[in-house]
Amino acid sequence: MTNEELRAKLEEEIDVVKQELSDLGVEDIDPTATESDELADRMEAEEEHSSEKATLLARKNEIIAAVARMDAGTYGFCEECGEKIEADRLEANPAAATCKLHMA
Ligand SMILES: [Zn+2]
Repeated sequence: MTNEELRAKLEEEIDVVKQELSDLGVEDIDPTATESDELADRMEAEEEHSSEKATLLARKNEIIAAVARMDAGTYGFCEECGEKIEADRLEANPAAATCKLHMA
């Protein structure tokens, strides 16, 4: 699978996640605010209200981060050890930031 195909998968998935969030009544969050304290506070609050919303928001952030790594040219390398992430792991989870050895 090429990075373009993985990117298409990520963009498809983020649309699904956004739709699920809006179904749950969560308004869209500015993607540039992903690292802000505001979002962290917000995610804490969301977690209190609904673990489902928190899971979706976390997944959305993972996908945004993966697309950002594609733009930065660091996509597909483990954040822990810097080794290339296994192709089958990326196919199973295109937003993966770590290799199988370092997966959470
Ligand atoms: Zn690793």
